[in-house]
Amino acid sequence: MLRVVGFAVPVVLWLTYFAVLAAFYSVAWSIEMWSGITVMSGLAGLGLAVLTADCVPLLGVAPARGTVMAVHAGWRGSLAGAAVEALAAARQAFGIAPGEWFLALGPSIGGCCYEVEAAIGQRFVDRWGAMPDAWQPAGAHGQLDLRRANTAILVGQGVPASQIVAVGPCTACASQEYFSHRRSGGQAGRQLSIIGLRRDG
Ligand SMILES: [Zn+2]
Repeated sequence: MLRVVGFAVPVVLWLTYFAVLAAFYSVAWSIEMWSGITVMSGLAGLGLAVLTADCVPLLGVAPARGTVMAVHAGWRGSLAGAAVEALAAARQAFGIAPGEWFLALGPSIGGCCYEVEAAIGQRFVDRWGAMPDAWQPAGAHGQLDLRRANTAILVGQGVPASQIVAVGPCTACASQEYFSHRRSGGQAGRQLSIIGLRRDG
């Protein structure tokens, strides 16, 4: 159902904090949030891409609507509800319900390797409710799993858990194969995750 393919066609790219949305087509548009960026398209042959190195590349397709989305969600964007805003925008712009989306969360840093201040984890809980799979506090710090946090948030918005899949390993654990901002001390490159509708599909 979910097609994540390479395209020899225009690709909409953006960096972590800077949206660069080329106006190839009027049906492609973007929403920029604080560290959370979404691009959607209903046009076959247009690839939407996100660059990450520990943050979550969230790729979605609503197959019955012929629409795809790509979301960048770091911890700030995840906390701010980048995924929720994307779902809301899809509903508002295209009438797509959250339950129509199939979502893939690409390689990103796992709870195994992502220690953050306890205050950050608590902000997730305060805003989105308890998420014991995603946030495990231990004193002044805790382990935060961004993909699990986004999964909990998405399920809370009405996306069936069976329609959300994590693809790939923890980027810090697998830093030989994937770029990891934290593991590299901020010197990492970026993974490129792409989604689009095939012209022949
Ligand atoms: Zn790890």
